[in-house]
Amino acid sequence: MSRFPGVDYLMFDSLLSEEALLIRQTARQFVDDRVLPVIRDAYNNAVFPKHLIAEMAALGFFGANLEGYGCAGLNNIEYGLIMQELERGDSGLRSFVSVQGALVMYPLHAYGSEEQKRHWLPKLQSGAAIGCFGLTEPDFGSNPSAMRATAVKSGANWILNGEKTWITNGSVADLAIVWARTSEGIRGFLVEKGTPGYGVSDIHGKLSMRASVTSSLHFADCAIPDENELRGAKGLKSALNCLTQARFGIGWGVLGAAMDCYETARAYTLARKQFDDKPLAGHQLVQEKLAWMITEITKGQLLAMHVAKLKDAGKVEAAHISMLKRNNVAIALECARLSRDLLGANGIMDEYPLMRHMCNLETVKTYEGTDHIHTLVIGERVTGVPAYR
Ligand SMILES: Cc1cc2nc3c(=O)[nH]c(=O)nc-3n(C[C@H](O)[C@H](O)[C@H](O)COP(=O)(O)OP(=O)(O)OC[C@H]3O[C@@H](n4cnc5c(N)ncnc54)[C@H](O)[C@@H]3O)c2cc1C
Repeated sequence: MSRFPGVDYLMFDSLLSEEALLIRQTARQFVDDRVLPVIRDAYNNAVFPKHLIAEMAALGFFGANLEGYGCAGLNNIEYGLIMQELERGDSGLRSFVSVQGALVMYPLHAYGSEEQKRHWLPKLQSGAAIGCFGLTEPDFGSNPSAMRATAVKSGANWILNGEKTWITNGSVADLAIVWARTSEGIRGFLVEKGTPGYGVSDIHGKLSMRASVTSSLHFADCAIPDENELRGAKGLKSALNCLTQARFGIGWGVLGAAMDCYETARAYTLARKQFDDKPLAGHQLVQEKLAWMITEITKGQLLAMHVAKLKDAGKVEAAHISMLKRNNVAIALECARLSRDLLGANGIMDEYPLMRHMCNLETVKTYEGTDHIHTLVIGERVTGVPAYR
């Protein structure tokens, strides 16, 4: 049995099918047995625990909500629960799975040719190949529409030039999905490792997402065969649609980090005594923080559940997912900060997961659309007035 009791204030589990509970249990056990024993060292030493890739593949975690080509074909609630458990382990691990599934397998599934799908999807699902997604550039993060990377048609090839940065899995990827400007607008390309003119360098010195590889991708007259264009992808909206898939997983994932923080603080404050031999958890100010956390986590769970149901019904909008990502990341980050506070000095130690989650969540707040950008998406949805510029 898992050491993690789960966080369920409002009988959330009564909303889950037997199948979903089983899938969550499998992911939970995997995190307890395989991730928690190694994650502290991996984070401290800034290494991604590569040996877990094959194990996660065998459990069907990659592209789990996609149909066919060896994918598990789970519904979006089941998929979300896997993301939640993985991020309870570490946001870096969940990021790996999000990139592989939502940012590499999804675009192939949605926009790839039958040949591209047959060639890549089974390999990516089984972990035999790893992928990355190159959209962000050194000068363009929140506004990728201004990207400088170009792809120019030359005979049977596209010639790619430019730079992408902050790319998760960059140097470990066999396949990069790269977005570049063409004479017909922004298009997506499959760039294989080892293609002449394609270079990768890792970013060092991160104080967040340390157990995750982050790289820069460089393209200098890099010739991409015509058949490596993602033919179904037209314009930036196709790239943003991939991000919508990943943001959905984030909205669930961060609940796992929040739950780990809350449960750590709850257990600690019940055990630790201050003033008249009384547990910290018996003091009103401490209870106020625990009450805030469990309330926000519960609201976050219900939001995630409803958005998953809309997604399964084909009714979800990108603006719905913006609310899920923005809200759940914000409350998870606050849970990490409050929990750290409740552990006092011990809260800063790597023996507890709080500072690791807190630092990771600073990245999660920024990537896949910053908190500000999702605020503006919601603002546009309710006013009809775009305020990005
Ligand atoms: C660890 C990590 C992994 C990542 N992985 C990937 C990946 O795999 N692939 C990929 O393509 N990218 C990836 N990213 C990049 C990420 O998506 C960008 O960092 C993000 O989009 C923000 O861009 P920026 O860092 O350039 O910040 P900027 O766009 O420069 O924004 C800086 C600040 O200004 C604010 N801001 C910007 N515009 C506005 C506005 N109009 N109104 C109000 N505020 C605004 C932002 O909200 C933010 O607070 C990753 C980033 C990190 C840190």
